[in-house]
Amino acid sequence: MGLTFENRTAVVTGAGRGIGKAIAETLASHGVEVVCVSRTSETCTAVAEGIVQSGGRARAVPVDVGDGAAVQAASEDLLSDYGTIDILVNNAGITRDGLLFRMSDDDWQDVIQTNLTSCFYWVRGLGRSMTRKRWGRIVNISSVAGIAGNAGQTNYAAAKAGMIGLTKSLAREFASRSVTANAVAPGFIKTDMTAAFTGDLADKVLGGIPLKRFGGSLDVANMVAYLCSEEANYVTGQVFTVDGGMVM
Ligand code: NDP
Repeated sequence: MGLTFENRTAVVTGAGRGIGKAIAETLASHGVEVVCVSRTSETCTAVAEGIVQSGGRARAVPVDVGDGAAVQAASEDLLSDYGTIDILVNNAGITRDGLLFRMSDDDWQDVIQTNLTSCFYWVRGLGRSMTRKRWGRIVNISSVAGIAGNAGQTNYAAAKAGMIGLTKSLAREFASRSVTANAVAPGFIKTDMTAAFTGDLADKVLGGIPLKRFGGSLDVANMVAYLCSEEANYVTGQVFTVDGGMVM
């Protein structure tokens, strides 16, 4: 299916690696000008340079998405440069796994701050330009852990479930301005985040995936691209699992 994008600009967080990199590259391949955000300058710069070398439009902005003041400053800079940011993909995320009784305050707080509170910061920073323009797309990368839960990931699952509540509330708040908000919940996608899952552990996970393979970053990026396109005009407030059928 060809997707339609009308001279759009996008911010993709966590675009330095993995799923975010694939999202940034896929949007750029559709002609979207992409702002690649990651924590370290090296990763987002490399991705933005790769996009430009392939004929796309991109730039790198290193920001810690959990730092509200830094996100606000970056948002203001971007809006003064571009006028509007049309598409926001909140993809940056971390894990700090551990059973609840052994989880430190920092492990809890860091995951909530980086994965969930960051979404609030970015929407606060960029959302008004979308509502003013009466067009916008917000896609939050949640997780199947936010739907089904996962032992050892209470912090992560709470943040990812929180993203779903945030998404649905945004969808309701922004609908009258033709700004949509949706969540994508990946299952097990092969990236640095899941690199430690090998051997018996990986086999056990595979056993629960009807399509009998782990996903690739592009599997998620293709769903995100659709949700950001004109073709998804009538889709808002939804959660789309991209998980090979793991959670039904
Ligand atoms: P990776 O660990 O491969 O990449 C994470 C990216 O997020 C990196 O670019 C990293 O920046 C960036 N990032 C992390 N913390 C911050 C921060 N504080 N500020 C700015 N950028 C930050 O992750 P994945 O690609 O695997 O995951 C992407 C998203 O998808 C996450 O939200 C994750 O929870 C979710 N997800 C992933 C699944 C999987 O199986 N992989 C399954 C379900 C959901 P830097 O490059 O500078 O380190």
